[in-house]
Amino acid sequence: MSVKEKDQCYIANTYGRFPVEIVSGKGSLVYDENGKEYIDMGSGIAVNIFGMCDEEWVGAVTKQLTTCQHTSNLYYSEPCVNLAELLCEKTGMKKVFFGNSGAEANEGAIKTARKYAFQKKGKDYYKILTLNNSFHGRTITTLAATGQDTFHNDFLPLTEGFVYTDANDVEMLKKVVSENKLAAIMFETVQGEGGVVPLTQEFVSAIKEICEKEDILMIVDEVQTGNGRTGKLYGYMNYGVTPDIVTTAKGLGGGLPIGAVMFGEKTKDVLTAGTHGSTFGGNPVACAGAVNIISRLTCEFLAEVKRKSQYIIDELNNAEGVKSVTGLGLMLGIETEKDAGEVIAICRENGVLPIKAKNKVRLLPPLNITDEELKKAIEVIKMAVKG
Ligand SMILES: *Cc1c(COP(=O)(O)O)cnc(C)c1O
Repeated sequence: MSVKEKDQCYIANTYGRFPVEIVSGKGSLVYDENGKEYIDMGSGIAVNIFGMCDEEWVGAVTKQLTTCQHTSNLYYSEPCVNLAELLCEKTGMKKVFFGNSGAEANEGAIKTARKYAFQKKGKDYYKILTLNNSFHGRTITTLAATGQDTFHNDFLPLTEGFVYTDANDVEMLKKVVSENKLAAIMFETVQGEGGVVPLTQEFVSAIKEICEKEDILMIVDEVQTGNGRTGKLYGYMNYGVTPDIVTTAKGLGGGLPIGAVMFGEKTKDVLTAGTHGSTFGGNPVACAGAVNIISRLTCEFLAEVKRKSQYIIDELNNAEGVKSVTGLGLMLGIETEKDAGEVIAICRENGVLPIKAKNKVRLLPPLNITDEELKKAIEVIKMAVKG
C-alpha cells in the first residue's frame, strides 16, 4: 500500500489532507516523496519558526535527547526552569505552567480563571467571555470556548459557562459584560483559524479597561500569534496591554510538542500543588528546543519579520485578483477573487505551499525565510490569484 492508502486505511478520518507527502526539508524548503521541492508557506501551521531541521535547534535538541529525554514532574529539571525564566524575563509574566499543546494550555488558563474567580468573588462568577469566530482548541472545554457553532454541533453538551461576543464591537462587548458574571475574557489578538482577523486597538483597549475595573482576568490565546509570529514576541505586545494569563504552543517548541500557560502578578499563585498537572509537561527535549527558539527572537530578528511582512503586503495589496490582505507580521490572510482552494492548488503545482483559513489563503512562513525564497513564493502566489 502507498502512504496515502495506508493513511486512509489506518488513520482516523479527522483530516482533509493536501495530496502531498512531506518527506524532508531544510529551512523554508520541503521535499515530497518524488523529490519535488516546495517553498513552505505554512510552517506546519506556525510551528517551524526556523523552518525545517534548523542546525542550531537540532543541536540543542540532540544534546538534550542524548543526556536525559524525560524525568516526570516528580523531579527538578534544568531545561524547563531555563525556559520558564527566559519567558518571564522576556514578557514580564511571573510564572509558567508547561503542557504539550494549545488546547492543553487553554484548559490550564480556564481552570486558573475559574479558581481565581471562585476564591475572589464566589461560585457565581465562573463565566468566560470569548469571541465569535475564535478558535481555542478541540477538547470539550476548549471547543466550548471556541465561538463557532460549526465546531460544536456534533459534541453537545459542551462544558457550560461560556458566553460570546463579536470581535471589534465595543458596544456589544459592554452589553454582554454587563449581563454576565464573568471570571475572564479570553481572545486571540489575530483570529487565526477564523480567517486571520486582527482585533482593533480600540477593542483590545476596551477589554483592558473592563478587566481592570471589574477584576475580570484577561486571557490572551497566543497559541498561533505567539513566539515572534506577529513581529512582536507575543501578539498582545502590539496592543500595549498586560494580560493576566497568556497561553502559547505551536511555534514555542520550533517543531516539538509543547504548550505553556504564563501567569501574571494576579494569577501566579492560583494553581497550587495537586490542582493541575501533566505527565509530559515541561519535557526536557521540547524545553531545550524552545530555549533555543525563544532566545533567538531578538529585537533585530523581529524587525526583519516586520520588514518581510510589509514586503508581502506591498506586493499583494494591489495585485490582480486580491481583494484584501489582513493580519500581522508573518501571519497573513489573502482574500482572493478566485476560490482559495483553487489558488492553493495552483500554488502547490508550482512549488509553493500556503494553507487555508476560512475562505482565505493563509501565509505562515518560517520567520527566517530568505528574501529570495519569499520573492519566489510571492511571484507564484500572484500568478495563482490572477483571473
Ligand atoms: C491551534 C490553536 C489552538 C489549539 O492548539 P493545539 O495544539 O492544536 O491543541 C488553540 N488556539 C489557537 C489560537 C490556535 O491557533
